[in-house]
Amino acid sequence: MLSKIISEKNIDEVRHLLNNAENVAIVTHISPDGDAVGSSVALAHFLISMKKKPIVIVPNCFPVFFNWLSGTQDIIVYEDHHEETKKAIADAQLIFCLDFNSIDRIDGIAPYVRQSEAKKILVDHHVNPAEFCDVVISHPSISSTSELIFRLICRLGCFPNITKECAEAIYMGMMTDTGNFSYNSMQPEIYQIISELLMKGIDKDAIYRCIYNTYSVNRMRLMGYCLNRKMKIYPEQKTAVIALTLEEQQRFDCQVGDTDGFVNLPLSIEGVDVSVLVREDIKKIKLSFRSQGTFPVNKMAAMFRGGGHLNAAGGESYQPMRKTLWKLENMIKNRRDFEQTTEEQI
Ligand code: 5GP
Ligand code: MN
Repeated sequence: MLSKIISEKNIDEVRHLLNNAENVAIVTHISPDGDAVGSSVALAHFLISMKKKPIVIVPNCFPVFFNWLSGTQDIIVYEDHHEETKKAIADAQLIFCLDFNSIDRIDGIAPYVRQSEAKKILVDHHVNPAEFCDVVISHPSISSTSELIFRLICRLGCFPNITKECAEAIYMGMMTDTGNFSYNSMQPEIYQIISELLMKGIDKDAIYRCIYNTYSVNRMRLMGYCLNRKMKIYPEQKTAVIALTLEEQQRFDCQVGDTDGFVNLPLSIEGVDVSVLVREDIKKIKLSFRSQGTFPVNKMAAMFRGGGHLNAAGGESYQPMRKTLWKLENMIKNRRDFEQTTEEQI
């Protein structure tokens, strides 16, 4: 038996709202990762089994290495389909907001969600949720939103409705948000859930291969280039930084998702416990932060209009690369200012 993390009140509210809705929109954050896509698709599979009509909408493209997952082919990408997005949100009697907790994280979809009179349910695991939903299921101690979707379905008494496809989506989210269970993965119940998912017929090793062993040659070479030529180590600060310009990404014919995971690589170096990937985009610079141990990278990300978790966070900069790196370097040199105080840990 899993512990009842989601409150009885939340469960009653979700049950009531689901009973009164047919068209359900599911929205998730910009640059959707495995947990965003996994939790959304899993919920859609579940709602279909409940004879509802769910539509998953994402702000922009997700990596092709999620395409094997059943249900991803029906996702509406707002960036390329403004009208369909507008209609889907306008038609929805209920909106689920998954894997984000502040409305600006859904970018161009935000105005439609704000305007909609449909009830909104948040299911998320980031700290400090903003108030824009009617029902808030927010559990930062849980390592993925996909795990929360599993728990929600079970608490609704619908475990039998979880199909193999739904289980695959849940597993994908749990696996990717924990780096294949190498961080944020100490809660014993995670493995109880995996056991239930295996019983639903998922092939966890095949899912691993689909996500992590499908690199293009270009992606592999770009990774080599990053490690060989671009990785800068600050030994005293136990920090590594990889900064990639747009030109460099174009040179390697970089596709959406191709730099995913690169930020984790320097953490394999002994004595490095913080790693930052700085990636130039067309309109902004994206920063990804990772740490191991107690260093709170979400505090660093907050200095770049971002946030996230203790060990994984992100932010963005609208300044040129040189200025962004200068600011980052100053922060790294003063990393003590960001260290967790004993008081905070308590
Ligand atoms: P990633 O580095 O993989 O893009 O993101 C790592 C974590 O930080 C994720 O949990 C993600 O939700 C969060 N995150 C990434 N970028 C941003 C951002 O711009 N703003 C906020 N608030 N969180 C972010
Ligand atoms: Mn997540």
